[in-house]
Amino acid sequence: MKYRRVVAKFGTSLLTAGSDRLNLEAMAQLVGQVVRLRAQGCEVVVVSSGAQAAGRHRLRGRLQAGHTPSRQAVASVGQSHLMQSWDELFDWHDTVVAQVLLTRRDLTDRLGYLNARNTLRDLIEAGAVPIVNENDAVALDQVLATRIGENDSLSAYVANLIDADLLVMLTDVEGLYDGDPRLNPGAKLLDRVERIDGTIEALGGGSHGAGTGGMATKLRAAQIATQAGVDVVVASGRQPDVLVAVVHGEAHGTYFPAPGDRIESRKRWIISHISREGHVVVDAGAAAALRAQGRSLLPAGVALVVGPFARGDAVEIRDSEGNRVAAGTTNYASDELAKIRGMKSDRIAETLGYSYGDEVIHRDNMVLF
Ligand code: GLU
Repeated sequence: MKYRRVVAKFGTSLLTAGSDRLNLEAMAQLVGQVVRLRAQGCEVVVVSSGAQAAGRHRLRGRLQAGHTPSRQAVASVGQSHLMQSWDELFDWHDTVVAQVLLTRRDLTDRLGYLNARNTLRDLIEAGAVPIVNENDAVALDQVLATRIGENDSLSAYVANLIDADLLVMLTDVEGLYDGDPRLNPGAKLLDRVERIDGTIEALGGGSHGAGTGGMATKLRAAQIATQAGVDVVVASGRQPDVLVAVVHGEAHGTYFPAPGDRIESRKRWIISHISREGHVVVDAGAAAALRAQGRSLLPAGVALVVGPFARGDAVEIRDSEGNRVAAGTTNYASDELAKIRGMKSDRIAETLGYSYGDEVIHRDNMVLF
């Protein structure tokens, strides 16, 4: 298997098989593939559209004449139906699913970002399949701009959030063409796009079909994800077993390779965000464990906290001589860390009254110098 942590985004037109309601047979095909990948040791997070379509279908005929429910109301009706369908289909395989609804605010605000990240990781560790959608019931376009608006971008943010190595956007077209295949039958599928530049963007065109996305939003999503070091594939979900094949490295649809490797771009992110205000000094044992064994930083190893910094900031870790050991995003703010430094992790909750986890800085969020 080429990829180990994958975000699979299923578009509305795929989940409805082009109709005006969820198509359980189409969904079951996708479920079978996710289950198979998981059995092979791959972590899969699903980003599912279809709430609007399901809600519209369910409300049809039940409304008073002339009443058009808001997009938020339609999505609220549809989301529960959507999740119920996923739940039942995955249950056939004894697989537990979890609903995760996100808004833009959850992903741009540092705390929201960390919380969403921790929840998704916990779910994966617990063996559940997270099924993510935008929280349409509360997301508003105007004023607060809390809405992302389409799930292509959402799936790219989620891929970034969980440090996925692959984002697969499955839709009802084969991929990116050098022309519009509906108008020009001679249009050719681009199987590999190294750089998303103006020429490529011009091929994106507008949206189509039942979802809000189209090739333009897929290109934007591919740009976000590849910049974060995540490979991207856009392919037709109507081909049998395409998700499994793509995760195994088979060529399908359009492939957007990420420029550097995954670690490099995350390092770039951490390094470019290091706090200038504060840092953490660790004892000799912790410095050695970080350097030689690639361990996470625990409160027990923290000797001194120089603040201020907030939870989620990228901070430097130094040894007692002042040499830089590593840098990483901290789960605890400087005032919290000052209270728990030197302690065993099982005392965090009783000392602070809450816990954000055993690690001060998880090794996945750390760069060694
Ligand atoms: N969140 C929307 C839904 O579930 C989908 C947005 C999109 O089509 O990308 O209906």
